[in-house]
Amino acid sequence: MKIKNKSKRRKQYQPLNCERILQSLQEENQQVKKQAEHAKEPQREFVPAYGINPSVRRKTELLEQQDMRYAYSREQRILHDRDCEWVAAIPAEAFEMTREIIPCMPRCKQCRRKAIIRSGMTGDWKRINAYVRFFDRAGLSDKQLSPLFRWKHAQIRLIAADEMQVWVNGDAWVIKLFDNVCELWHNDYYMSDQGERVLKRSFHRQHPYKIKVAEALGKIYAYSGEKHAEQIKETGLGRGKINA
Ligand SMILES: [Zn+2]
Repeated sequence: MKIKNKSKRRKQYQPLNCERILQSLQEENQQVKKQAEHAKEPQREFVPAYGINPSVRRKTELLEQQDMRYAYSREQRILHDRDCEWVAAIPAEAFEMTREIIPCMPRCKQCRRKAIIRSGMTGDWKRINAYVRFFDRAGLSDKQLSPLFRWKHAQIRLIAADEMQVWVNGDAWVIKLFDNVCELWHNDYYMSDQGERVLKRSFHRQHPYKIKVAEALGKIYAYSGEKHAEQIKETGLGRGKINA
């Protein structure tokens, strides 16, 4: 009965003191040690204790929501990608998840790249490793990737292992990888009689040559649909036609 009363208090998410956290970490470590003694391979997974510990149940329920991209401990306050191996070690009592990166929170070095890439995903969560492989092949560093999502709010979708669709400022682009270079494709659109850009589902080559992916990102950043539409309005050229 005592355990039940404690659980009720935890459900109200009252801040825990450091001693309690340390104690819970020690308990958890002891449990892992015991499991390791009984099994040859150490077991990191916990057994969900439905109906017994509300904090554990809450952690499990949060983790089941795939769009909760990141996890952290209220005590340590280090942001992890949801797939990071440290997530399992966060005590259930201090466990939190968030859909967006919390800018002021330090990031875990181990899962930093995954966390950056995940911030541009809109689904397809379980294929995160394929997304990471794409950007690894593209030769883009975390520093190059971060502004794409943080400042340009790009959204990405992997069409094939070597083909990524990228949305920036309402325009759609496709980056097709060939070793360490790529082809850059841009969505077709036409100008309506009202002078508005109407996007089509088809794509055209934006650049005649294969270029480095970092260069392709530069072209995406520099592109302005509005500016292009203004030019067409002024000159009258391209109205009703597919335009680059
Ligand atoms: Zn991590």
